[in-house]
Amino acid sequence: MPDPHVTPPTSRLAPEPILTALRDVDPAAELLYLGQGHWALGRCRPTPERYTAAMKMLASAWASARHGAFEEASWYRRLRFARAVREGFAQMEAYHPPDCDCPNVTAHTRLDRGEPDARIVRDFRRAIWRWRRDTQGRDFERRMRQADEARKAAIRAEYADPARARAADRWMRHPVSIVKPRTTPTSPRAA
Ligand SMILES: [Zn+2]
Repeated sequence: MPDPHVTPPTSRLAPEPILTALRDVDPAAELLYLGQGHWALGRCRPTPERYTAAMKMLASAWASARHGAFEEASWYRRLRFARAVREGFAQMEAYHPPDCDCPNVTAHTRLDRGEPDARIVRDFRRAIWRWRRDTQGRDFERRMRQADEARKAAIRAEYADPARARAADRWMRHPVSIVKPRTTPTSPRAA
């Protein structure tokens, strides 16, 4: 089983084949079970901004508990979610069971029987692809603005090479790696 990036919110873990497929797309992928058939898909990278946002979410959750104005199951999910954000989780999609009454749920994000399936991997691949394209595009534009003419030619060449662009993109996104090496003897990836 791949190591979790954040403390699992519940004792139920994502199915190993799905988590492995997600981590193949992006090693920072995380799929968390929040309870009552709800799953949160995202990436994990601890940042001061996420920590601050999480502390506000936790404060608001505890305030609503003090006032007694909350529905218990969804309150626990909110608390588990905020704790994952505190450890760096950023949600890309939320998946719901067939029968919950959360607002803004689409047919696509209702899981049959509440079980994660291959659509989650497809959604993640698409989201990561869009996100990388946007991140990389912004990085390219920023560097072009700052560079003199001689450097511009070098930057164009760098970004014209997809492998080098991907490596640069990875470095930009993980200046401090939180991903543990996966090449342990028990890992299927080591084979
Ligand atoms: Zn729901």
